[in-house]
Amino acid sequence: MIDFRSDTVTLPTPEMLAYMHQAPVGDDVFGEDPSINALEAKSASLFGMEAGLFCPSGTMTNQLAIKTHTQAGDEVICEELSHVYQYEGGGIASNSGCSVKLLQGNRGRITASQVLAAINPEDVHKPISRLISLENTCNRGGGACYDFKELVDIQKLAKTHHLALHLDGARIFNAIVHKKEDPKQYGQLFDSISICLSKGLGAPVGSVLVGNAAFIKKARRWRKVFGGGMRQAGSLAAAGIYALDHHVDRLKQDHEKALLIKEALVKKDFVADVFEVETNIVIAKIEGKYNATQLAALLKEHHILVIAMTPALVRFVLHLDITDEMLSTTIATIEKL
Ligand SMILES: *Cc1c(COP(=O)(O)O)cnc(C)c1O
Repeated sequence: MIDFRSDTVTLPTPEMLAYMHQAPVGDDVFGEDPSINALEAKSASLFGMEAGLFCPSGTMTNQLAIKTHTQAGDEVICEELSHVYQYEGGGIASNSGCSVKLLQGNRGRITASQVLAAINPEDVHKPISRLISLENTCNRGGGACYDFKELVDIQKLAKTHHLALHLDGARIFNAIVHKKEDPKQYGQLFDSISICLSKGLGAPVGSVLVGNAAFIKKARRWRKVFGGGMRQAGSLAAAGIYALDHHVDRLKQDHEKALLIKEALVKKDFVADVFEVETNIVIAKIEGKYNATQLAALLKEHHILVIAMTPALVRFVLHLDITDEMLSTTIATIEKL
């Protein structure tokens, strides 16, 4: 099977497995796992931040950030398609007791003026606006990247209005590689950043939350409360270290392959539109002789797995287990449909 369903499906490479195998481990709840400590320090310093916290999932790093930045009754401002709202099981409400102000953005991206309009005035009737949560790249927006200038403007507003600013950076390295940015630029703007190691970076498990030391200290306490305190998990952290060292620059290959998939799709009469491809996600609008579900089923007969996100949209996600041969096979198959 050629699996384009998600960049979470990657398997650890032999080199990554060897690196995991030699990793020193210890009890991380006691702060004694050298590999986890090294991953946390490495992630923080990459972004020019003080501290990091290794967690089993990106849902946990996002939810810990929200929990740590807010109090029950506060309000979180985010885009309507954002992962923190759509795909974390209502955790903003159940974990943090917060309400959400949803904004309708452009492929997942919101603007500073939208954020300004969403900040509640000082008024006993209103929840206290406390946190802005942004996503880069935007998953449901088809891997769309923020223009850095917009992020700078949003950060200024956050500062003026005393709001915390969180980044769901599940695919932040895809944005950084595409835009030729430096992670430290993000560290300067955001109060917290969640980085997924198990998406395009290809580690089997794990995410890291980075922020200042006081914030991470509080988040570490909440991680224990959420049941995320792990023990000898250093082998998993080692996979993350390996991924940060070896799998960041290669993301551009995924982006190039995504463009080739787009090129093959736009030629087809059953493809009404393909979202602009910036990174590793291709979303196509299907109409006419197939709907998205039928196209996904047909591709599956050809051993190609994609996701029908809605009856009209199919999604291809590129990642490090998609080889050049698999790409050629896929393009040849699309040409014949
Ligand atoms: C995958 C993803 C996450 C985290 O997901 P987990 O499966 O919990 O690791 C968070 N945000 C975005 C945008 C994602 O795509």
